[in-house]
Amino acid sequence: MTTVHTHDALIAGAQQADDTSPLRGTRELFSLPEGVIYLDGNSLGALPRAVPPVVDAVMHRQWGERLIRSWNEADWWGAQTRVGDRVGRLVGAAPGQVVVTDSTSVNLFKAVIGAARLRPGRTVVLTDPDSFPTDLYMTESAASLAGLEVRRVHPRDAVTAVAEVGDALALVSYSSIDYRTGELWDLRAITAAAHDVGALACWDLCHSAGVVEVDLDAGGADLAVGCGYKYLNGGPGAPAFLYVASRHQDDFDQPLTGWQGHAHPFAMRPDYEPAPGITRARVGTPPLLSLLALEAALTAYDGLSPADVRAASLSVTGAFIDALDALGVDLPLATPREPERRGSQVSLRHPQAFAVVQALIVRGFIGDFREPDIIRLGFAPLYVTHVDAVRAAMHVKEVLDGHEFERPEFAERGAVT
Ligand SMILES: *Cc1c(COP(=O)(O)O)cnc(C)c1O
Repeated sequence: MTTVHTHDALIAGAQQADDTSPLRGTRELFSLPEGVIYLDGNSLGALPRAVPPVVDAVMHRQWGERLIRSWNEADWWGAQTRVGDRVGRLVGAAPGQVVVTDSTSVNLFKAVIGAARLRPGRTVVLTDPDSFPTDLYMTESAASLAGLEVRRVHPRDAVTAVAEVGDALALVSYSSIDYRTGELWDLRAITAAAHDVGALACWDLCHSAGVVEVDLDAGGADLAVGCGYKYLNGGPGAPAFLYVASRHQDDFDQPLTGWQGHAHPFAMRPDYEPAPGITRARVGTPPLLSLLALEAALTAYDGLSPADVRAASLSVTGAFIDALDALGVDLPLATPREPERRGSQVSLRHPQAFAVVQALIVRGFIGDFREPDIIRLGFAPLYVTHVDAVRAAMHVKEVLDGHEFERPEFAERGAVT
């Protein structure tokens, strides 16, 4: 039995953790509906308050009044690399290596083919059988065009597999965090193993950018991709990013040779010549409203170090796990309990996970469901507090104890789950 005392003690402890957090006050930078606990920032980040006035100015002033002149006056032309450098700061990349462009799916395609061309004569790419599906689909398609064979090897076995494949290996392509379980993989170890056999490493940072210390440069990563609309809060459909380490840029021969990646785009020449540096990873005209919304959104990270963000993230996910334990919720965790092995989410398993998530949403607690049995809860530490985490655990307890998830309306699925 849990008592009122347990609840009060949990809330008091959470309040104290919020008051002393390095991220205290950052929640005020976001516009969230009253009464909502939002644990889905790993699908669609919340709205930063800085975004609407910027988008308004971009629409009415830059577009409405200044029209085409804004390409120069407002530096729309340089926005992809300018915002790329801002993302770079969050993922351990020095300036000049990240461009904001296209979607994660498209960037992965560019990265895999680019990697194959950097390692001619090699025939194998390793990827995770449990990857987010688009990563598998795009890797298979890119690999078949580049003449590579895809071998699906779980990241826990990657280091051994790399050594076995040896000098046939062109690329290892992994997500740094499993999108379902939230398990964090060892970027440095897998990258180092790939380099030992002369191969490259590409990392998908969709679930790590903005919540863990990624250290692309220090970890030796060759290529990386990631989303703009998850923990980076760029808004629905925000463009994604692509990292190419400086040492590879002169030889990075990506397949989508659009005019904005050209060395002299306004010379309008009939033949393609890639731009120097990361600019060659651009393709066509970017969605500027979304790109500039992402730029404004990233100001929420101003003054925060990735180490502080990571510490707050672990503290909040830890508070949630501890509260579940204190309340006697005995659902199996799909996420590792060891802090160094988890990202910024906690996933629970339940045979009726979809219905449980629906019952939680009705209570104003928004998480999501992932096949087959995962209740997936993403904790964006900039706007999810320790008090939110403890309240979330109490909702889980009540939904399970009261069998709320058994109500027939919670079994109905919409187009997007
Ligand atoms: C969210 C996510 C994507 C999404 O790709 P889009 O091209 O933006 O639809 C891709 N890969 C992973 C690992 C993701 O988590």
